[in-house]
Amino acid sequence: MMDSLSIPVAIYTRKSTSHNLDLETNSIEAQRQFGESFIAAHAGEGWEVVPERYDDAAVSGATANRPALKRLLADAKEGKFKVVVCYKLDRISRNLRDFLDITDALQKSGVRLACVAHPIDTGTAAGRAFVNLMAVFAALEREQSAERVRDRCHAVRRKGGYIGGCTPFGYLARDKHLVPDPERRDVVRQIYEAYLRTGSVKAVAAGLVSQGVKRADGRPWNLPYVLRILTGRVYVGEVEFEGKVVAGENEALVPKELWEEVQKLVRLRRSSTGKKTPTREPHPLSGLVRCGSCGSAMTALMARSRHGNNKVYWYFSCRADAKRPVRKCTTGRISGGVLEKAVLDRMAEVMRSPAFTRTVSPYLRMAPAEVRHRLENVTEFWTGLFPAEKWRVLKLLVDSVTVLPDEIAIKIKTGGLADVMEELRNAN
Ligand SMILES: [Zn+2]
Repeated sequence: MMDSLSIPVAIYTRKSTSHNLDLETNSIEAQRQFGESFIAAHAGEGWEVVPERYDDAAVSGATANRPALKRLLADAKEGKFKVVVCYKLDRISRNLRDFLDITDALQKSGVRLACVAHPIDTGTAAGRAFVNLMAVFAALEREQSAERVRDRCHAVRRKGGYIGGCTPFGYLARDKHLVPDPERRDVVRQIYEAYLRTGSVKAVAAGLVSQGVKRADGRPWNLPYVLRILTGRVYVGEVEFEGKVVAGENEALVPKELWEEVQKLVRLRRSSTGKKTPTREPHPLSGLVRCGSCGSAMTALMARSRHGNNKVYWYFSCRADAKRPVRKCTTGRISGGVLEKAVLDRMAEVMRSPAFTRTVSPYLRMAPAEVRHRLENVTEFWTGLFPAEKWRVLKLLVDSVTVLPDEIAIKIKTGGLADVMEELRNAN
């Protein structure tokens, strides 16, 4: 029975579409039961569950088009309840920005959000602090996504410029036409013959280095460049245009039979090594890891264990070194797990640091000591609350991860965070 002292509480549930995440709590009924016991535990404060159900079945946490959620927000506005209970915060949304929009809307209606699995209640100071901290990250993300767009423009220009200005090895560009380079035209044929002899792009590249053959652009030899020479139609005087092969204007440097034999061998080598090549898939730290030996990016590679237990593991290896005829980086391979742990440890350290709490405290309107106290379980905050968001948020704060022979150096974007905090303070 609802008397004047009772606080009406709504339960929101969402069935996850993805994976086997928290199987036992995945079902709508299980979430509802957890919610009901949670409300019963707060009966002393007058909490009482409302009969109306807000269940979103089999919709993604990322999409905002959820009928039950829409109804929940509309009913909150009409004052049909004062508290919303969910099992975990990621039931509300797996997307940080959506999450903040939704909690904002609830707050405007005077409705607080409480969560069964996490000690978050936006009706408490700690809960508000947490949600505000999330807002900081969302703002940081907005700023950095603008930066990323600018970075991408640069990259496209660089790439375009490179493609446009690239003259195939063995030729010179004269008035927009290709003419054979007298110094290098014979090298092309030697490259083709050496490949048929050895069957190895690496051996061909190493041979070029040891013979002191130079590229016209003065850059060092690498394996993709040699492979481009071995497969370029330009060397038989042809061009590929919109999927069709047509005769080009330039002089051929390699007889057609030799070229075709090489293509056969390239295809054969590709298919026989294809199975051993590790699959490339995105890793949370992709794009952040650098080789301490040469400064180039390290690529994340996924490999299957050779012991037949179907286990996969990640490792990072220097991208530039893999293309060199002779390896020279001392970095070697480093396990993805080792890197992840180093980054998580460093992040927890940063968030506990006086500098971080000092920066955050004015915005949260809390003393630094109190912020520190609230963030004590910061590791749990990362790993528990938003597993899907964890690495995306980390990327906002981590500038680079450099692998050195006996150390992993992690650079943090503290400047970016300070700027965002300043902006938010001024906006308030
Ligand atoms: Zn390297």
